[in-house]
Amino acid sequence: MKLSCNGCRVLRKGCSQDCIIKPCLEWISSPESQGNATLFLAKFYGRTGLLNLLANATDQNPPATVVVAASVCCK
Ligand SMILES: [Zn+2]
Repeated sequence: MKLSCNGCRVLRKGCSQDCIIKPCLEWISSPESQGNATLFLAKFYGRTGLLNLLANATDQNPPATVVVAASVCCK
């Protein structure tokens, strides 16, 4: 059994090798903050909206929205 990334864990979704959330969170140092940033975005955009957003932001690493979420909830 493999471990889900912290984003998938808080969203309770399956994580895969080509997970789109994982690379967006890797720059955040603590696992707890990674989860908090994901939850914040999921509340704001909804689960599906968040996944769409990250899928469309592949040219930005990390995506600007994730940076904002991290700065709001990971002080
Ligand atoms: Zn994942």
